[in-house]
Parts: sequence; C-alpha cells; structure tokens
Amino acid sequence: MTGEISAELRRLISERAHFCCEYCLLPQDFAVHRHEPDHIVPVQHGGASESDNLALACFRCNRYKGPNVGSYDPLTGILTPFFNPRTQRWQDHFQFVEVAIEGLTPEGRVTVKILRFNDDDRTVERRLLLRAGVFPTI
Ligand SMILES: [Zn+2]
Repeated sequence: MTGEISAELRRLISERAHFCCEYCLLPQDFAVHRHEPDHIVPVQHGGASESDNLALACFRCNRYKGPNVGSYDPLTGILTPFFNPRTQRWQDHFQFVEVAIEGLTPEGRVTVKILRFNDDDRTVERRLLLRAGVFPTI
C-alpha cells in the first residue's frame, strides 16, 4: 500500500527538492532509477499521501527506509526517528567527510545507518560525481 500520488503532486515534490534525493542528495540526473516520492511517515504508520509527508528519495534510500520510522542511535542506543526533510535542515544533521556522509545528530546517525548512505557502491558513485563537478548540490 503506497497511497495515491497524483502526477501534479509528484512534480511539486521533485521541484521542491530541486530534483535531488532529500536524504543522500543524489541528483536525479545521475541516478539509474527515477527518484520516488517517499512517505516520511509510512502509510502503514498512518502517514498521508500529502505534500508535507512526502519527500523526494532515490531508489536506494527509499528501499532501505522501507516502512521504518527510525532506529537505535549507534552512539547512544536511544530509539530515534529518521531525519525529516520537511521539518529539519540537512546541514544541521549531516556533513560530508570527503565522499562519506556523517550524521551529526541522533536523527542524522540513524538515517545514515539504516539508509546505508556509505555503502561502497554509493561512495564510489559520489566520488565520480564529485570529480565531474556535479555533487554535492548544497
Ligand atoms: Zn538517496
């Protein structure tokens, strides 16, 4: 169950995100698969298919996030919700360390961990985009 998302709402979500994944910042133009609307609060947890509960996510971030809403902070062990692109600023929760993305806060750390931001294939991809001068976009 994913909820109905109109073509107009999909366009709004993509434009609002400047066509980049709102979690890992991968630009749509350089992704193999089309970015997708992600339910920040998943449908099965009562999340609505409305603008303020949707974020643009790349295929990998969306698949790894799945129906999860958070995880245990690897630093403290405290149950923590994921980074919320609608209510939080990326720069407040993450930073680049070369091509790796480091979580600066509990929300950042659980998002990095569960969405697997730093898997080898993803850091290799970021390095190529960085060399091409098209990443990061913020
Ligand atoms: Zn992503």
